[in-house]
Amino acid sequence: MIFAGNFKTNHTRVSTKRYIEDLNKKIEYAPTEHSIYIFPPLMAIDNYETSATIGVQNAYPAENGAFTGEIGLEQLEEFKIKTILIGHSERREHLRESQDIVSSKFNFFKENGFEIIYCIGEPLEIRDMGDDEVMRYLSAQFEGIDINYENLIIAYEPIWAIGTGRSATVEEISSTHKSLKEIVNKPLLYGGSAKPSNIQDIIAIDGVDGVLVGSASLSVNSFYEMINS
Ligand code: PEP
Repeated sequence: MIFAGNFKTNHTRVSTKRYIEDLNKKIEYAPTEHSIYIFPPLMAIDNYETSATIGVQNAYPAENGAFTGEIGLEQLEEFKIKTILIGHSERREHLRESQDIVSSKFNFFKENGFEIIYCIGEPLEIRDMGDDEVMRYLSAQFEGIDINYENLIIAYEPIWAIGTGRSATVEEISSTHKSLKEIVNKPLLYGGSAKPSNIQDIIAIDGVDGVLVGSASLSVNSFYEMINS
């Protein structure tokens, strides 16, 4: 199973360091066969010694250059970062990332051999229209994306379940993952209010290969409780 923690705009360099040290201790005490990923804010990226994979939540699709406020490949290479989240609904919505922008990031980081966790998800009004509409909406988020890319992990994250405390139901996750697996043969994570109290139900679902966790990953105890469940 894959357990990925997305800190978003939470944690500092100091608290991320402490978090990773605590996580290391827990893993050392009880080694896990699961794959763990941590996505701290960019300011907290550093040379951490850990068996968890450290990735970034975003970067600009250029090696370097005049892109004020952004970081590119050169800055990631300094810390040997080779994993990136692309297409998160918060970037699509708040940062106005269109499918064109998302796919150009995807292609740039693919060409540079990055492992990509590519996020897709539908808003509530689409979910309310039924499964066919959901799949039409999700399929459009694969436009310009090489779904056969070898270093690709998909995260299905219904937007209405992100940060709301309301996870999708087992039936909703199960049927959407089943349909997605017919389109894309890659590890498929679920994301959206996954937490210690529902993690066992979620990872038991056929077609769920792991979880992308926001809020419940902010505390190392809660995140580790999920991994250890
Ligand atoms: C996310 O933003 O990727 C996410 C899944 O957040 P949360 O777990 O807080 O719903």
